[in-house]
Amino acid sequence: MYTIDLIREVLELKSYRIADYNQQITELVYDSRKVNQPEHSLFFALTAARDGHDFVNDAYLRGVRSFVVSKNVPFLETLSDVNVLIVADVLDALQRLAVYHRLTFDGTVVGIAGSNGKSVVKEWLFQLLSIDKKVYQSPKSYNSQLGVALSLWNLTAQYDIALIEAGISEPGEMERLQSLIQPEVGIFTNIGLAHSQHFISKQAKLSEKLKLFQQSNVLIAGSKYVNADQVSSNIKLLQWGEEESDLIQLLSQQPSGKGTELTIKSKDNIHTFEVPFRDRASIENILTCFTAMTYFGYTEPQIIERLQQLRPLEMRLQLKKGIANSSLIDDSYSNDLASLQISLDFLAQQNQHPRKTLILSDMEGLSSSEKLQEKLLGILSRTSLSRMIWVGPDYQWLDKLSTTTILRFASTEDLLHQLETLNIKDETVLIKGGRAFRFEQIVQRLTLRSHGTVLEINLNALSHNLMHYRAMIPNQVKLMAMVKAFSYGSGSFEVANLLQFSKVDYLTVAFADEGVELRMGGISLPIMVLSPDSDTFQTLLQYELEPEVYSMRFLNQFLDFLKANKREGYKIHVKLDTGMHRLGFLPNEVDELIECLNQHKEVKVQSCFTHLVASGDADQDDFTQHQIDTYTNCVAKLEAGVGYSFIKHVANTSAIVRWPQAHFDMVRLGIGLYGVDMDNGNGVLEKVSTLRTTITQIKDLPKTETVGYDRKGVLTRDSTIATVKIGYADGYNRKFGNGIGKMKINNQLVPTVGTICMDMCMLDVTDIEVKEGDTVEVFPDIMQASKDIGTIPYELLVNISSRVKRVYYFE
Ligand SMILES: *Cc1c(COP(=O)(O)O)cnc(C)c1O
Repeated sequence: MYTIDLIREVLELKSYRIADYNQQITELVYDSRKVNQPEHSLFFALTAARDGHDFVNDAYLRGVRSFVVSKNVPFLETLSDVNVLIVADVLDALQRLAVYHRLTFDGTVVGIAGSNGKSVVKEWLFQLLSIDKKVYQSPKSYNSQLGVALSLWNLTAQYDIALIEAGISEPGEMERLQSLIQPEVGIFTNIGLAHSQHFISKQAKLSEKLKLFQQSNVLIAGSKYVNADQVSSNIKLLQWGEEESDLIQLLSQQPSGKGTELTIKSKDNIHTFEVPFRDRASIENILTCFTAMTYFGYTEPQIIERLQQLRPLEMRLQLKKGIANSSLIDDSYSNDLASLQISLDFLAQQNQHPRKTLILSDMEGLSSSEKLQEKLLGILSRTSLSRMIWVGPDYQWLDKLSTTTILRFASTEDLLHQLETLNIKDETVLIKGGRAFRFEQIVQRLTLRSHGTVLEINLNALSHNLMHYRAMIPNQVKLMAMVKAFSYGSGSFEVANLLQFSKVDYLTVAFADEGVELRMGGISLPIMVLSPDSDTFQTLLQYELEPEVYSMRFLNQFLDFLKANKREGYKIHVKLDTGMHRLGFLPNEVDELIECLNQHKEVKVQSCFTHLVASGDADQDDFTQHQIDTYTNCVAKLEAGVGYSFIKHVANTSAIVRWPQAHFDMVRLGIGLYGVDMDNGNGVLEKVSTLRTTITQIKDLPKTETVGYDRKGVLTRDSTIATVKIGYADGYNRKFGNGIGKMKINNQLVPTVGTICMDMCMLDVTDIEVKEGDTVEVFPDIMQASKDIGTIPYELLVNISSRVKRVYYFE
């Protein structure tokens, strides 16, 4: 237990003001919305995309009384019941506290770094070891400077082993993480191409990542990734790979019925066993885990037995459409306080249904720990739920939860028997349970069926991309997110809820209908409509949608309508045409516009904007500059003419990056938000949409046979052909036929064969190992795919048919 006074001492502070020296602190928080035990929380005013000092007030109102700040907060000055610690750097203070706590831990700390597979290795080791050991693992994606510190803070003496994941994006970060984690045992998964923009070479990236293990006693790694020259001689290197010298040597691997049959040599013993995976990455992760288990003293037969129980992971929470107009949040993979909190935060973001239901299972250790029960009660009582469905022992303490209705079931079976009686409809349901409860059976019963092709939307990536662009604009510049055309194909309220939660300033749709859908989904942000139509004026007013006004004719129609409805001061967005020549007032029409606006009180200019035609194209920079100049002149005239100011905006994604002088008061972020990099940022953006389908049938065909309509796919060799469930009706363009399109199966690219059919197409899988039912990634590289058929990524994304089910992931 830490008191605020002890924390002050740990941080060696001279500047502080403490009202209650004995205040116990158990939780470190940095988001005022995520406070569970306010009196025991210490709020860190971190400065990231937003300044945490601006939220001190909110945290106080929620009951927090202890704060770490790096500048004077006038609000706190007025209070006498607060503990305020003043530091030079808030994140640094949080980290120093975490290190102090870390050093009290007597068990073994394992640090995991590498480009890919960190979370999988962490989770698998957790599964393999926790059969007979107490293992702590850093929650989900807590692998950053902040995440690692928070993970360490939750470490307690009850554990034997702690598995901590470390992720970096820039040089210099790993040294900091090393001093935080101080792992005795290191695991390096692999080195790939992700995040290379900040590193000169693969070598530089590798040596940066290896810094995590500077002080470690042992390092586990593949010999193809790390050799003895690259690490200090004090470190015992345990390698796996295909070399004679490797501790765990892979002698052969063969595809088998269940997955892959591996033959390995370990300490002169040869073992052959099957694992339920096919892809190369999983096999490497298996070898990593095997080596680590050997280090922890397990015998080969023990390890092999445990490895066979491993299952592929679905670690991310999924949002999908449920029966009877419900939305399901499926997080049936694990249940502990940290991950429950993440899922509940996500539930809180969902505004599409007023009713929210939580289906929750018992948790490991809950029956015996009063402290855990209390924390869980705290979390639940601060969550607004219409009802909670509890699966597990009938605990007395649950009665204390007076804020919501609780239905109790002793087992998942019991709940499944009575599922219909719950009458789930028009609500958001969070399904959160430990693996042993097999809640996937509930999810299966409540999910709308799909036909095997899904578009996966990674909401964390969307959020990452948003932060990336937000960091590129000054604080006072507003951000408008373009969610037209179903958010470039990725969804409506599902994406908009996240944007609203992330406090973007404006949303933009193309048509009034799209805006209505967002309003029905609980979106209260201001919404601009780009192509309003006079038939939809009533709708605009009813749903508070703000039209783009682009011509005198349109303006007059709208004014007439407002007058008839006795409305005044309705917000409009004036569009200037500075060179696009699509919609908008030409510069020579601005005088007439001013005159009209001055005569009518029915409308008020909320913003004035123009659209750049080639902001991403260096060859057209003179033209872009000309557009910006024209805009600047016209907007000055308009502002002077109407006599009040309004929001000015010009920049789309490429201009945010390339034209900082065109940020004005607001930017309009589109394609970059969805992870498509039109500006060569070298992998700074994260992929948001992944279109996946499955193999329905595989057949071996002799040379000279043909595949598909019109006999276009002529086989020039004996071939294996796979039929997949995606066709042009799903948005897979016919131009991708006859080898132009390439899909990815088990990490390998394969071309199409023959023409693309309406609902299916065929792939040449002769050179790779596949089986029916395998999943296929349709656009492994959307930039390349769009080039291959002479279009742009925008078109491929928005053409993905609405019959393709969207599933949203969040971690
Ligand atoms: C679509 C659109 C944008 C966004 O463009 P991106 O290139 O996707 O960032 C911005 N402004 C207007 C007017 C648009 O129609």
